[in-house]
Amino acid sequence: MKVLVINCGSSSLKYQLIDMDGEKVLCKGLCERIGMESSMITHEANGHKATTPAIFPTHTEAFAEVVKKMTTGEGKCINDVSEIDAIGHRVVHGGEKFKSSCLITDEVIETLRELSPLAPLHNPAGILGIEAARKVFGNIPMVAVFDTAFHSTMPPKAYMYAIPYEYYEKYGVRRYGFHGTSHKYVAGRAAAMLGKPIEELKLISCHLGNGSSIAAVDGGKSVDTSMGFTPLAGLPMGTRSGDLDAGILEYIMGKYGYDIKEMVSILNKKSGVQGVSGVSSDFRDLENAHKEGNERAGLAVDMFNYGVKKYIGAYAAAMGGVDAIIFTAGVGENSASQRLAIASDLEFMGVKMDAEANSVRGKETVISAADSKVKVLLIPTNEELMIAMDTASIVKG
Ligand code: ADP
Repeated sequence: MKVLVINCGSSSLKYQLIDMDGEKVLCKGLCERIGMESSMITHEANGHKATTPAIFPTHTEAFAEVVKKMTTGEGKCINDVSEIDAIGHRVVHGGEKFKSSCLITDEVIETLRELSPLAPLHNPAGILGIEAARKVFGNIPMVAVFDTAFHSTMPPKAYMYAIPYEYYEKYGVRRYGFHGTSHKYVAGRAAAMLGKPIEELKLISCHLGNGSSIAAVDGGKSVDTSMGFTPLAGLPMGTRSGDLDAGILEYIMGKYGYDIKEMVSILNKKSGVQGVSGVSSDFRDLENAHKEGNERAGLAVDMFNYGVKKYIGAYAAAMGGVDAIIFTAGVGENSASQRLAIASDLEFMGVKMDAEANSVRGKETVISAADSKVKVLLIPTNEELMIAMDTASIVKG
């Protein structure tokens, strides 16, 4: 079975064609600057990768070009689109309506439209992608896979905010959580690595990238997560503040004369480790700047690592224990020093790192010591494969 995985942004389209027999990536690529001048497509297949200029007034033309790249020239990996059995779309927000992935129908698209106010930056692009794909791919079954769905198992005590209850009842104001596809994938891999049924495991999944979130996964179900109503909550991130005292907003708005839109934009785009360091949102730059003596770069990384450590403690307490801690995404997969800093001084709760095992990158590895009661795992995430797996299982019925 061949599944095409699609992740649409407002001006971009990422794709990957996966043959589920052997989970082999047949091709992948990215269309950029859709709806702008100088659009381009980068397509990779058969060990051949090329970026070519294109004209993409809308996502429909981008999809048509993807089909052309897949079926002709050096990047050809199928003879005809009819070889694609299903298409899986990443959708950021499923609200309370979508608790799992689902087959896309007209009704589903309508509901997604109703949910757009919950994710105004992301869901409209997802809908654009779905509608364009329907035009280009006709009757191929399509599935929506939601970033929020994995967290739909959280209990009310974890997802409610302590504000007037009617905001939840009338407007759906609650914690939804994101990165669910990633947390679900690595939790499944952790169970496989540990050789135990996921139902018997208490896991803490740390997705640490540009955007970061942590999930408490008890028996295979998410019971709490650090992102909230929006992806602004939880840990400090590349440019997002993470949690902060809401009282700060009024104070800073008064000092600088910002309106609420400007303030929220600062919290999303100019805060996090970028805001603290004044150097970069990229942890590699921060590590280098710190080595060269930049104290604020060091402080930003320390704040981030400390934030992750606190969530690990909190979620171990929330689940009444933890069997394994998982590190994934850009920082989690690559930064040995940050993993070590985060997991240091946790011996009291049974976490003991193996510095040598920890010196790997991007490869499924147990990085805790042999006698560590709690296992620490490095697991590269694979959201595309997870989307393809969900899509295949739904289409097969
Ligand atoms: P996104 O949230 O955009 O998907 P990624 O998961 O790709 O982000 O993570 C990107 C981040 O990973 C970069 O900002 C960078 O800081 C971090 N990163 C990548 N490689 C390393 C490394 N070797 N050491 C530290 N951080 C790294």
